[in-house]
Amino acid sequence: MSSKTAPYPGVTDQLLREQATQAAADDRIERLRLAAGRMVHGDYQVYVPIEPRDAIGRLGLTLVELGQTLEQRLQQHERLFEVIEQINRGLTVNQVLDHIYAGFRSLVPYDRIGFALVDEQRRRVRSVWARSTAPELHLAEGYELSLSRGSLQQVLERSQPRIINDLEGYLSQHPASDATRKIVAEGMRSSLTCPLLVAGKPAGLLFFSCLRPYAYDEDHVEVFVRIARLVATIIEKSRLYEELVEAKRLLEDLNRGLAERASTDAVTGLANRAHLDIVLEREWQRSARSGTPLGLVLADIDFFKRYNDSYGHQAGDDCLRAVATALRGSVLRPTDVVARYGGEEFAIVLPSTPMAGAEVVAQRLCRSVRELRCEHIGSVAAPHVTVSCGASSVVAHRPRAIADLVAAADRALFRAKDAGRDRCAVLAIDTDDPPNAAS
Ligand code: GH3
Ligand code: MG
Ligand code: MG
Repeated sequence: MSSKTAPYPGVTDQLLREQATQAAADDRIERLRLAAGRMVHGDYQVYVPIEPRDAIGRLGLTLVELGQTLEQRLQQHERLFEVIEQINRGLTVNQVLDHIYAGFRSLVPYDRIGFALVDEQRRRVRSVWARSTAPELHLAEGYELSLSRGSLQQVLERSQPRIINDLEGYLSQHPASDATRKIVAEGMRSSLTCPLLVAGKPAGLLFFSCLRPYAYDEDHVEVFVRIARLVATIIEKSRLYEELVEAKRLLEDLNRGLAERASTDAVTGLANRAHLDIVLEREWQRSARSGTPLGLVLADIDFFKRYNDSYGHQAGDDCLRAVATALRGSVLRPTDVVARYGGEEFAIVLPSTPMAGAEVVAQRLCRSVRELRCEHIGSVAAPHVTVSCGASSVVAHRPRAIADLVAAADRALFRAKDAGRDRCAVLAIDTDDPPNAAS
């Protein structure tokens, strides 16, 4: 268009061109404004004019780059949250480290992760966990390193991740670094070492290593600076949890030991009187419910006072232990309980055992003690240690009580003693007369 053909006076080509450019610029600015508005609402994929590369074009280009960076950061954050969520699920240090190994790959490159703890005095670090894609771990769990001589001290003091992108070069400069030698032997060529601080104090180190050199850059450092404190806290939490689990286990062991000691006779290792009372009560109830007979044998060492007089109390205790072992070996069912009733008397509880069965067991008890052939010069019954047994059995029923069963077995024992010892006698609960003579 020429100025000669201008339809209106004063409207020159120059002016029209300027107006057209102005309109185009306004259009681009408007598109940039709309794109920026979309970015405010989280849409970072902007399509704005970047040509011509005048000031507006360059602004468009910057906006596109900003969108890409924001999109990238957003994805990184989302991934980070996912990983952190996973890490939080771990309860033990090992679980947490496993989650890190499995989940961080999309955020930072690595072919190996190692975790080492710093000791209380901050003198040594000890490798406690390592995972690697390499076939062999040269720097495995248990590997220890003095902090005073190494560069790790600086990493911990500065509380900043350290990147070594050429481990082979580093090793040739630091030939004394055993850890570097080992990690290079595993095939690693670059590393990112991240200090873990708990309550501001160095607690450990995370080692990320890659098979290729120059794998790490400042972007990774940024990610690590953000998450290191969190990981350290979680690891500390896990350690506390593990300590708690261990303390609980110790307490349970202690309780079990105490309960065992409270129910065990110290001399013979058999159930003690207190435990016997519990067992008798339990079995009496069971007998009443099931209608099965409950058998009881009382065994008493013959002339034991004389044994002590002849051989001394120490030997007397040894004899008690030997008899206890023999008695325990004479009962066959896992539900049978052999207890020390008191002094040189023992009680043998026989669930689901009628009179005849209790008598068989009582005879076996006598025989097994006899067969110990434990010399007893003071005994009138035999030249060796013997026991006398009294047995009884009953189906629990009212108005009878446990005491009646014990009394019947005791009366039977008295009869066995009376009949010459080293024998057994049986007596039913409801009668004073023995159903058969002492045998
Ligand atoms: P009997 O054949 O009539 O049963 O005679 P006895 O001597 O075995 O019975 P008595 O009741 O007169 O004596 C029991 C003795 O058992 C008293 C004590 O010297 C001994 N005795 C009881 N408890 C223990 C113990 O824990 N250790 C030792 N060494 N001896 C014990
Ligand atoms: Mg006695
Ligand atoms: Mg006795």
